[in-house]
Amino acid sequence: MIRLLIYGFLIYFGYRLVRTWGKSLMSTGGDAGDMPKSQDTELIQDPQCGTYFLRQQGVQGRVHGQVLYFCSEGCRSDYLRKHGIS
Ligand SMILES: [Zn+2]
Repeated sequence: MIRLLIYGFLIYFGYRLVRTWGKSLMSTGGDAGDMPKSQDTELIQDPQCGTYFLRQQGVQGRVHGQVLYFCSEGCRSDYLRKHGIS
């Protein structure tokens, strides 16, 4: 039973590590100031489809100088198209 817990923890931390790792690899460029780390687990709503999701799992998009988060690439491009930004 305790073994299972330990495995669970290992998988969880491994997963987190991979996620933060992937994020930092993807976000090259100097605008880290747009993403405060303390809000990593904030639940936010997709402005396109209305789905709630964790900010860290969202897709970032820039609309009129404002950073918005979407649940998927598809929603981001739909939203940008709707607002005449592509
Ligand atoms: Zn969406």
